[in-house]
Amino acid sequence: MVSYKELGLVNTKELFKKAVAGGYAIPAFNFNNMEQMQAIIQACVETKSPVILQVSSGARKYANQTLLRYMAQGAVEYAKELGYPIPIVLHLDHGDTFELCKSCIETGFSSVMIDGSHHPYEENVALTKKVVEFAHKNDVTVEGELGTLAGVEDDVKSDKHVFTQPSEVEDFVKRTGVDSLAIAIGTSHGAFKFKKGTDPKIRLDILAEIEKKIPGFPIVLHGSSSVPQNLVKIINETGGKMADAIGIPEEQLRSAAKSAVCKINIDSDGRLAMTAAIRKIFKESPGEFDPRKYLGPARDSLKELYKHKVVNVLGSNNKA
Ligand SMILES: [Zn+2]
Repeated sequence: MVSYKELGLVNTKELFKKAVAGGYAIPAFNFNNMEQMQAIIQACVETKSPVILQVSSGARKYANQTLLRYMAQGAVEYAKELGYPIPIVLHLDHGDTFELCKSCIETGFSSVMIDGSHHPYEENVALTKKVVEFAHKNDVTVEGELGTLAGVEDDVKSDKHVFTQPSEVEDFVKRTGVDSLAIAIGTSHGAFKFKKGTDPKIRLDILAEIEKKIPGFPIVLHGSSSVPQNLVKIINETGGKMADAIGIPEEQLRSAAKSAVCKINIDSDGRLAMTAAIRKIFKESPGEFDPRKYLGPARDSLKELYKHKVVNVLGSNNKA
């Protein structure tokens, strides 16, 4: 058993308490390689923001859970070396079984998500409660989910939105003991969140109703990339093909962050930033074959994107 505390990581408890009180949200950025991790830590150290490093099941398959855990431990030391030790959470994104959550908790994760949202309600309650009981014994925080997000993210996919029912949240939170709740209000996984020509709106009215039922309880938004059109344009101008990609307008996320929403997951925008940077270099310098010459600029572009998110969307700058 490796406790996250030995690694210098923190759980989400204090961070969420302060974020809800302060009207901002903590960034949850996914990582599965070194350049992403460097970009996240550099961006959050420079903006003095706490951060949640997320590992999805796809990342575990791609990069190996043990390696990622050592990278998170490295991130703690890296932040110190950069001159400002920010609070860092290592979080399992979309855990689907008790066994997986347990294995992450035993190998140094400080926070886990158990996503039982695809199960019938009572099964979701039972599974989430089981994970919470084990996690809390180890002072690890747990995120549950009610409602289903549309879209595709690694192994998590669904064809349609099932909005969270405000009538269920109080019972779910009480019976499971979760520390935070992911809700479905129209955000979705992937880069194709809204059809071209439709009004990209999330249901802030449902969020308000949920907040009335569980005042001050930490809420999480998944699938909250904005799909910056300048990045899509670069990708398309350099041989890519992403014509109808539309995301969540940043103003809507900003207003959600001012409420009890205290964790916002952003993954696709980072993928777009890296892809745009790499495509541009390949187009402009076709002779380039040193990976550092394209992964380096991709990392810098990712870092700029994350700094923008922290300062202009989440509001978590200077909160570390
Ligand atoms: Zn998600």
